[in-house]
Amino acid sequence: MSPDSASLPLPPSPEPACGCAAAPAVPDWVPLGSEHDPKFACRVMAGVAPDAAAASHPQPARRRQLSLDDYTRGVLAADIAILSRAITLVESHCPSDQALAQQLLTRLLPHTGRSMRVGITGVPGAGKSTLIETLGCLLCDQGHRLAVLAVDPSSSVSGGSILGDKTRMENLARHPHAYIRPSPASGSLGGVARKSRETMLLCEAAGFDVILVETVGVGQNEITVRSMVDFFLLIMLAGAGDELQGMKKGVIESADLLAVNKADGDNIQRAKLAAAESNRVLSFLQPATPGWKTRCTTCSAHLPASLTELWGIIDQFMLVTRESGALAARRERQAVEWMHAMIEEELRERFLRNPRIRHLLPDLEQQVASNQIPAATAARLLLAEEDASLQDTRHKTT
Ligand code: GDP
Repeated sequence: MSPDSASLPLPPSPEPACGCAAAPAVPDWVPLGSEHDPKFACRVMAGVAPDAAAASHPQPARRRQLSLDDYTRGVLAADIAILSRAITLVESHCPSDQALAQQLLTRLLPHTGRSMRVGITGVPGAGKSTLIETLGCLLCDQGHRLAVLAVDPSSSVSGGSILGDKTRMENLARHPHAYIRPSPASGSLGGVARKSRETMLLCEAAGFDVILVETVGVGQNEITVRSMVDFFLLIMLAGAGDELQGMKKGVIESADLLAVNKADGDNIQRAKLAAAESNRVLSFLQPATPGWKTRCTTCSAHLPASLTELWGIIDQFMLVTRESGALAARRERQAVEWMHAMIEEELRERFLRNPRIRHLLPDLEQQVASNQIPAATAARLLLAEEDASLQDTRHKTT
């Protein structure tokens, strides 16, 4: 150190911004009276003032890891930020997240089941999101707390989502009583449905008393959503044709209410005729819920009174099925079926992950496709290989 620099006076102590008492200019380890003594080699250097550029680009605060207690308390207190993080946890593929998610769900289970779970399906363009937005705002204004979830496996296949886009329900998304969660972005229909089902339980624990699960009326989706809701609403369009609307008998049979939508303006009469025709068809079909007669009505998002009437039917359904025990029976059955579905999915995934199966599969597929061996024989060969591989693993571990 040069004598010049050694003799520099100590810098004045800066005034702390927080308003605490100013720190002493001289640390207490400096011998008394030696602060200006050039023989004393240690000097306290002035701190560097935070420069303006750094201050205008603050580093993002690292998110604190939440404990099981944090998640539990947050969800039960209806803390939306924590609820969203809990849903992300449920959707995570990371094994440690999945373990924590299951512990959380186990803790929250006693606080679930107090909502009306309503599934809504219909072809793209049927008016589902417009209806949910208008109906949702009506329900929230009445004091309900509403969660809207989407089950849209197309988002994992095509990378684009038909449903769950918050911008489609702008007014509802802004309502303080509403919570909109887009479809989980990855996985098979089974995987997407599992996550949505668990999300539904989290929302119930957070006090949402109406859960609307929206899905697109194509393929297997509605059967899967049917298996997680109390009430299933099929939205239709007048004159679109049954084929176009993908209305297989099974979908109509799984619905508790059919509604011909966009029954406004010039379309009212056509919608009424379509509803009357559907009611005729329904009279030949087995209702989806014992003790409840499935019927077809008309509605329009432009006529809020028609949606109030629609909700009245759903309210009536909940009342009737709660009293008859059909609601409780359905939920019990759904929970057990869910367990079985998860076992099947997990077994299938494990099977297809087995390297010995993966090695054999392409060749056997080829042989089945070219009629060299029957499909059942190929399936048995693969299952026998799985058994042999399990036995080998057991031998190695004993
Ligand atoms: P989704 O694909 O089933 O969710 O259908 P959308 O809610 O996106 O609606 C598709 C189109 O139908 C949009 O242009 C809406 O403005 C229109 N639409 C939705 N509901 C109604 C309705 O009740 N009456 C009329 N006339 N048009 C509607």
